Amino acid sequence: MIANLENQITKIMMFTCCKIVIGAKRSCICDLQRNKVYQFPNEFLKIFNFGSNETDIVTINEEVANSNETCRKFVADLSNMEICFDSKKYTNFAPLKDDNFDEPALITNCIIDIDEKSNYSLQKVADELDKVNYICLHIRYFKHVNIEEIKNNLAYFDKSCLRSIEISFNTSDEIFDEDILELKDEYGRLCKVILFSQQKELTNVFGNDLIIYRTQNRLTDQSQCGYISERYLHAQTQFFIESKNFNNCLNKKISIDKYGYIKNCPAMKENFGQLKCESDFLKIIENKEFKKYWKINKDKIEECCDCEYRYVCHDCRAFTKDNKPFSKPLKCPYSPYE
Ligand code: SF4
Repeated sequence: MIANLENQITKIMMFTCCKIVIGAKRSCICDLQRNKVYQFPNEFLKIFNFGSNETDIVTINEEVANSNETCRKFVADLSNMEICFDSKKYTNFAPLKDDNFDEPALITNCIIDIDEKSNYSLQKVADELDKVNYICLHIRYFKHVNIEEIKNNLAYFDKSCLRSIEISFNTSDEIFDEDILELKDEYGRLCKVILFSQQKELTNVFGNDLIIYRTQNRLTDQSQCGYISERYLHAQTQFFIESKNFNNCLNKKISIDKYGYIKNCPAMKENFGQLKCESDFLKIIENKEFKKYWKINKDKIEECCDCEYRYVCHDCRAFTKDNKPFSKPLKCPYSPYE
């Protein structure tokens, strides 16, 4: 049925991909299509009509918006940033539902750590990961490697069901972008390469499916993980919805540490056996202990539950304040209360 727009009132509505997250003192708008996060003081919350709950279409209360110059400017900024727009059809837009998250793969991400002493079988890792239909693989080398060694290792995953591969490594060799592009030609699913111990910081993006970072930092071991910073905020639909419902760091993730121990995360103490012929990932991911962190979303974590960044910020359960399972990440300097 065609709606009679003539009789409908124009309202200013938020784009449905722009989600407001309310924090203790500040809130933010997460633009999930542009991967942008805009923070604002909570005094501006009165400008929004949230409807019956946060997932409904959000419109602007124009009476409040026009009540003073600061509010008018705030709404004008939202409009300029294409976060809201005028529409007579505002009731026709479906809200972006974010109260449920599912993913057909039993495991979405796997981290593999390798150092000079690692001697577990990458073939075994590839075989086990295929059983769980994993999607992304991240190989981290805590030693200097050359392209030849990386190539040999990637060959184990060449026939795998995975969609994307990231590699992080230290290297003393001079590696040019052309060398990485050649690697990408051979292993098309390679999408991110992070080179550590480099002369300078540099980022090069090649189309939509390859990014090369160079950093002067050295990749030493798994303890370097868990740093939370505004630089790492990730406003993307799938990540946002997963973060609302699950732990975004550990849900459906598996890792092999440098000794070949199977873990939730290489930096965690608990392990679920060492990689051997009898290791069975299907059995491990059914283990309740293995899955115990998966449902700890940010709403269940002290301090994070009051933070406006809670659905766009990565979590870390390996390093937590006072070592408690429900405390905020130890390496987060941000306080939602100050
Ligand atoms: S770790 Fe918690 S407190 Fe820190 S920015 Fe993320 S959600 Fe906020």
